[in-house]
Amino acid sequence: MTDRTVTADVVVVGCGPGGAVLAYLLARSGVDVALVERAATFEREFRGFGWNPGVVRLFDEMGILDDVLDLAHEQVTEGSFSLYGEEVTVLDFDTLDTDYPYALMMEQPALLEYLVERAGAYDNFAFYPATTVTDLRTDESGAVRGVRANDREAGEGVAFDARVVVGADGRYSTVRESAGIDAGLFESPFDLVWFKLPRGAVDAHAQGRIDREGLLVYFGLGGGDLQVGYPVRPDNWTAIREAGFDAFRDRVAAIDPRVGDAVDTHLDGFRDTSLLDVAPGVADQWTADGLLLLGDAAHTASPIGAQGNPLAVEDAVVAHDHLVSALASGSGTVPGDRLREFETRRRPTVERVVALQRRAGRAIGFWLDYGEYAPPWLVRASVVTFGQRLPRFGPIRRSVESFALGDRSVSVARSRFVD
Ligand SMILES: Cc1cc2nc3c(=O)[nH]c(=O)nc-3n(C[C@H](O)[C@H](O)[C@H](O)COP(=O)(O)OP(=O)(O)OC[C@H]3O[C@@H](n4cnc5c(N)ncnc54)[C@H](O)[C@@H]3O)c2cc1C
Repeated sequence: MTDRTVTADVVVVGCGPGGAVLAYLLARSGVDVALVERAATFEREFRGFGWNPGVVRLFDEMGILDDVLDLAHEQVTEGSFSLYGEEVTVLDFDTLDTDYPYALMMEQPALLEYLVERAGAYDNFAFYPATTVTDLRTDESGAVRGVRANDREAGEGVAFDARVVVGADGRYSTVRESAGIDAGLFESPFDLVWFKLPRGAVDAHAQGRIDREGLLVYFGLGGGDLQVGYPVRPDNWTAIREAGFDAFRDRVAAIDPRVGDAVDTHLDGFRDTSLLDVAPGVADQWTADGLLLLGDAAHTASPIGAQGNPLAVEDAVVAHDHLVSALASGSGTVPGDRLREFETRRRPTVERVVALQRRAGRAIGFWLDYGEYAPPWLVRASVVTFGQRLPRFGPIRRSVESFALGDRSVSVARSRFVD
């Protein structure tokens, strides 16, 4: 039931990094934009917290980098991990061809809140938290005309009318599903169990630890907290849970006894962990008449190389330019062939990243099955560590840089800004 109708040029569904960046850029470009978010607050437990140097560059182009650096964060200048107790540098960011040789480790809530606050400075922007989109509204030709939503605080049904609906509502996108678009999911050779440890619980300098007993990844969250990831074979998780939390703790402690001790002190059972069903995928179609999907709603990256946030932010930057131009060149619903220019531009980059991740994912799956049998010298010899010695040219450099620096042809269309 519809209790009220809201009209905007663009309705962005989902205030994750993709939706928040796009809404901010559109607001700043004078576009009438409504940002609709299911959650009542900015808290996003167990979400991406890595922002590679490519995103840092885009924040600078948006003119917000100084403010972002005032939010709680850690700067990472090298990728390193502990291999059978020996710390190895996989990549020194100084060897990359960038003016921003560092990544940020920063949780999403403060950044999202900051972006919404900045967008809120423009009268043409409106934010609708605690509002869940339930389906698309279409006309007789099938073109998307808006969305239906529930404002949970007011207890009202809201109809949003828009010239374009942007589905930025994440991996389980309601917008994508309502449009009947397949998520294009692939099998993942591993899932990730995540848990958080408070400041000082473990002094983890490296971003991971490989031991005969398994693999752990560590990410500082800014402010001192640590997020720990434990990869498991998807079909093993049920058995791990059935064996009980003490057995899980022992598995983790066998890889890193410090983490085992911290789990004893700070975690209260499986309820303090979260299983990330990695399931990467690339949707068959990202655009239709009046509809554009971006970020995880269009393509779900696996956590390898922390690519989800960069891909979502790059999508938003590219979509901003295309949308402002498409909206200005006509009236009414923006036709699918105008929106497809966005998809044509972004799909090759996304597919390349996902292909690289799938290759790395197969190696992790192999490691989970056979790592305990491999002699340490063989593992040491087969792990690629560039440190300072990243090749100057060639395919290896291109692959490493595409993970670290993203798509360097993506640039914020500042000429669209009205201020
Ligand atoms: C545990 C974990 C660790 C990760 N680590 C990293 C990392 O280190 N680096 C990295 O780059 N990426 C990482 N990722 C991936 C990264 O979080 C995502 O790729 C990124 O958040 C995608 O941004 P997005 O804006 O497309 O979607 P999301 O961040 O998923 O945002 C979607 C938003 O839509 C809202 N929403 C959903 N449905 C509706 C609805 N029906 N109505 C209204 N709103 C709705 C959600 O509440 C959410 O706020 C990680 C993911 C997980 C789960």
